[in-house]
Amino acid sequence: MALRIYNTLTGSADELVPGGIKKEKIGDYPPVTIYSCGPTVYGYAHIGNFRTFVFNDFLRRYLKFRGFRVDHAMNITDVDDKTIAGAVTESISLKEYTERYTAIFQEDLTALNIEPVEHTPKATESIGAMIEIIDLLVKKGYAYAMEGSLYFPVDRFKSYGRLSRLNSREIKSGLRYDTDEYAKDDVRDFVLWKAPKENEIYWDTPVGKGRPGWHIECSAMIRKIFKTTIDIHTGGVDLIFPHHENEIAQSEAAYGEQFVRHWIHVEHLLVNGSKMSKSLGNFYTLRDLLAKGYSARSIRFLLVSAHYRKQFNFTIDGISQADQALERFDNLLIRLKEIKKEGAPNPHVPNLIDSIFADFTGAVDDDLNISRGMGMVFEFIHAVNTMINDEKLTRMDADSIMLALKKIDAVLGFIFSEGSEKPGIDAAWVESMIAERLAARNSKDYGRADAIRRILLEKGIILEDTREDTRWKIRN
Ligand SMILES: [Zn+2]
Repeated sequence: MALRIYNTLTGSADELVPGGIKKEKIGDYPPVTIYSCGPTVYGYAHIGNFRTFVFNDFLRRYLKFRGFRVDHAMNITDVDDKTIAGAVTESISLKEYTERYTAIFQEDLTALNIEPVEHTPKATESIGAMIEIIDLLVKKGYAYAMEGSLYFPVDRFKSYGRLSRLNSREIKSGLRYDTDEYAKDDVRDFVLWKAPKENEIYWDTPVGKGRPGWHIECSAMIRKIFKTTIDIHTGGVDLIFPHHENEIAQSEAAYGEQFVRHWIHVEHLLVNGSKMSKSLGNFYTLRDLLAKGYSARSIRFLLVSAHYRKQFNFTIDGISQADQALERFDNLLIRLKEIKKEGAPNPHVPNLIDSIFADFTGAVDDDLNISRGMGMVFEFIHAVNTMINDEKLTRMDADSIMLALKKIDAVLGFIFSEGSEKPGIDAAWVESMIAERLAARNSKDYGRADAIRRILLEKGIILEDTREDTRWKIRN
């Protein structure tokens, strides 16, 4: 079966064909070239942003699981209205300001077990590439100047609106265009190069003094890194128009070839059923949630497990359910490790492992249907637990199952939580926490009991309640 993913450009679930030419074997394909719109580094990224970043990570991990190689870039927007305003407010340099938030963003990615990608270009380090494409657009008649800024004339690019399927009346009707204080001929036209305002950072370049418009950044970086048509471009659905529409217009007008084969867009994240907003009090950064004691592992579980083309409703209740689901993995790993039985392997185990791989791949190959894939994984866990209950597994079986889980976790990134094994864990402290939890339970304070379990889990300590007492283990 082939991997099919919904393509916003064609409106259908298209087979992924890296390089555009179909090959016999996955190993024969060139690396899948992927570009993901990255963050603007002016503050802490929120949980909605991380839905997209976690999806990007899941996508690249799944491609590797399927045998593809990947070459993935994500940009860092470190110059725009918000970053400039932030640096001015704090009276520090733009570089100092954006470096701080870039580092914070990287820490958040690490906390969520998001793999580093192959390229993370910064806007301020790619000005040359932006000038190159703007210069080509000027030469080909796809740019006009007004009040010192350069604009892209949208009516000259005939297929404008194809990705978003908006006709020009809808685009012109008002609300949906990119608001911009600068004057332009047509409301749809967007800025390529912005004339500097007073006391604002600018670059003195052959296309004039100024700074880049946001859209040009992605087009320029893609050309600089990948040289030609790329396989996959990802982003949130809110970027389809105007950002991605504008990227296509600039790149295809400048280079005269297809820009991107496969456009993949991630749906919105809601919090408690509403769009996240500071005024509704449902606005969470990752850091807010970690400070409340929720683990990045549970948040990753939630974000990975939701199908990318469905709106996802994030709730605190959902995190507790994620904790429970993760506990099933933790308990299974503990049980597998404890198996000592010697002897020949159980002949059913290889079949069980083959079928979880086949079922998982079958589900996820169908437009990355991870919700169904996770269902298969939980069925597998259930089957293994039953075999353990019936004492049908030997040490060798347990090792093969462990290895199979590791392979699946190369995609999921939350079954085994690496780095959580902390050498300096104080056993006396753990015992005192367990005693406190027992006291809380006896006085029916289940909230406190749960909180203690979570605090311990955060430190990589897993509790296992038996009939007699509570045992604890360090997760690995
Ligand atoms: Zn972009």
